[in-house]
Amino acid sequence: MKINEDYLKLSENYLFTTIAKKVAEFEQAHPEKEIIRLGIGDVTQPLCAPVIEALQKATEEMAHAETFRGYAPDKGYEFLRKAIAEHDFQSRGADIDADEIFVSDGAKSDSGSIQEIFAKDNTVAVCDPVYPVYADTNVMAGRKIVYLPCSAENGFVPELPKEAVDLIYLCYPNNPTGGVITKAQLQDFVDYANKTGAVIIYDAAYEAYITDPAIPHSIYECEGARTAAIELRSFSKNAGFTGLRLGYSVVPKDLIRQNVSLHSLWARRHGTRFNGAPYIVQRAGEAVYSPQGQKAVKAQVQAYMENASIILRELQALGYTVYGGKNAPYIWLKTKDQMTSWEFFDYLLSKAGVVGTPGSGFGKCGESYFRLTAFSSRENTEKAMERIRGL
Ligand code: PLP
Repeated sequence: MKINEDYLKLSENYLFTTIAKKVAEFEQAHPEKEIIRLGIGDVTQPLCAPVIEALQKATEEMAHAETFRGYAPDKGYEFLRKAIAEHDFQSRGADIDADEIFVSDGAKSDSGSIQEIFAKDNTVAVCDPVYPVYADTNVMAGRKIVYLPCSAENGFVPELPKEAVDLIYLCYPNNPTGGVITKAQLQDFVDYANKTGAVIIYDAAYEAYITDPAIPHSIYECEGARTAAIELRSFSKNAGFTGLRLGYSVVPKDLIRQNVSLHSLWARRHGTRFNGAPYIVQRAGEAVYSPQGQKAVKAQVQAYMENASIILRELQALGYTVYGGKNAPYIWLKTKDQMTSWEFFDYLLSKAGVVGTPGSGFGKCGESYFRLTAFSSRENTEKAMERIRGL
């Protein structure tokens, strides 16, 4: 027996464990102090009424022989795939068919699994800083990783890769920087992929936070993306499904490499390894697209974005250099007094009782940056900013 030694190459993921440990120690030492968490990327608002009603109705269906459902179809129920295709793509002029959508249990699973359909000796490009799943799952598979630096200078959008790469992971609106990509910049990546034969994995988990009408919501708004890109989406951040679990991937049927359809490879993988998102959760997902569902989830996103504006405004008034927060629920700030990301973490926790995420935990280029999230109540956001103001 031999273990998969590629797992040993993973850098130890101590970011959120170290944060939890430091917070626990602080709480023990200062039980009287209330901690405000603006660190994690999890939503805080409960599921909206149309989603709850759909869950209840679908649960009732499961209680009766005539309406009970067992295993879901491999790619997901048609009622949901149709709603997704019409609402998320066709309404924006993106040419995506319901049959090109694969319903899943979330974008984390999809962003981790998609690499399975590509060869081990592919070179993979990821941004630095990065949502760790893209890099770690490719390290586990033994692939070479190339990091594309994202900084204030390039507006947190990388240059096209200088060396030959086969897979490119892009995430916009971005976690952790809160940055966005323009349609022209995204078009450059699509053109690069079409020219070189690389494939783009485009993670649009935060698409619902785009407020600027010029920013693309989907990579398929770019010309030629059907032959260049796979897109991943999530119901977590737009509709609060982090605990329910629902997402989807889009693999256009025109995406062909070595005369093989990537759609059919992914369909084979999906059918073999995945048994579908639960029926009741897919019905809940369908409810997100109803007029009442849309109204409710937009109000939730709006509430988070108001928190983001408060954080941005307050930090700017205090003289911080701040990015993101306008089309994304993340605020990416430069630490003050040349502190490292971890020094700033300790400073904020000990002096203000506010927890954020050190930017260096997302990659080398994140050093001396810090991430705050809008996923909190307005009251806590205001309280946290009041404390930071008092420092
Ligand atoms: N993609 C990005 C960029 C994320 O930041 C996250 C969650 O934080 C996910 C995917 C995970 O989404 P899901 O909850 O659908 O698995």
